[in-house]
Amino acid sequence: MHPIEYIFPILAEPKKIFITTHQKPDADALGSSLGLYHYLIQKGHEVTVAIPNELPDFLHWMPAIETVLNYESEPKMCEQAIAASDLIFCLDFNHLSRIKGLEAPLRAATQLRVLIDHHLQPEADVFFCGTSNPDKSSTCEMIFDFIRQCGDEDLINNAIAQCLYTGAMTDTGSFRFPATTASVHEMIAFFKHRGLEHSIIHQHVYDSWSANRMRFIGYALHQKMDIAPSGKYGIIALSSKDMEPFNLMSGDTEGLVNYPLSIEGVQVAVLITEKNGEIKMSFRSKGNIDVSTFARTHFNGGGHFNAAGGRSDLGFEATIEKLKSLIGNIIP
Ligand code: 5GP
Ligand code: MN
Repeated sequence: MHPIEYIFPILAEPKKIFITTHQKPDADALGSSLGLYHYLIQKGHEVTVAIPNELPDFLHWMPAIETVLNYESEPKMCEQAIAASDLIFCLDFNHLSRIKGLEAPLRAATQLRVLIDHHLQPEADVFFCGTSNPDKSSTCEMIFDFIRQCGDEDLINNAIAQCLYTGAMTDTGSFRFPATTASVHEMIAFFKHRGLEHSIIHQHVYDSWSANRMRFIGYALHQKMDIAPSGKYGIIALSSKDMEPFNLMSGDTEGLVNYPLSIEGVQVAVLITEKNGEIKMSFRSKGNIDVSTFARTHFNGGGHFNAAGGRSDLGFEATIEKLKSLIGNIIP
């Protein structure tokens, strides 16, 4: 993979550009994709954003969300957009296996692929050029850097600021994780000087719950949170049967994994969810505990040092057992 600068001369002429991001897109995935979209269209490019599957409801306010294609519901249109494109931007994921159904058409595509991402261990040989920096707070911050590197900070309008703020906010846990550097705050100051109204974004993302979701979180914490006798880790495991009565929407389990970490002494939190026979896992840790390697080694996953994900092909109960037999090994 060449440095990102290799794309600058290619972007000097109007191009057809396809942008995609990881499955179960979160605010950083969508914010970076739409932030880049709002920049590139101002440069005269024709841009399509496509996501592998459904978005959580709390992101449906984002500017230009109505233009985003969903591969699961519109596979033909996505494939046509890939075929018609000159260039493909891959944002907020490190490996083509992270884009579900889009993996096959994207791997087969002969167009140049560009990576902008902050996960560990990128699949570097499938990208023509790009930037991969696990020290960055968010891919949104990297899009901000990219636009400035292109010399176009004057094109950063309110739509771009709204999109990039959202992903930086959620990927930093509202500006509290260690990756919240001075540069992140400088970026936010830049947006504020240009009139960004940030509190509306917090409302959209954090204060837009349904009463049903609130009750579900209450149930999960009261009935399903298992804190280890050592007090060092907490597991919330939810089977399909546990979740059925709540009629959950996409995004309703988002953030649930963080709750056990708010307990003093808990250093690792794990959320296990069973949906349509698939078992998904989310890992979070405090300090010097590497859940990314843990997820990669034992649960077909990966991610960041303190926030990772994975999946399991064992049954629900067997997954919990496997997890409990291993998790103690990474906690001092
Ligand atoms: P979440 O727990 O929010 O689903 O994911 C946490 C982090 O781990 C995200 O940065 C996400 O991109 C990454 N991640 C989640 N699931 C997987 C997975 O199955 N494989 C890999 N490599 N990364 C994952
Ligand atoms: Mn991210």
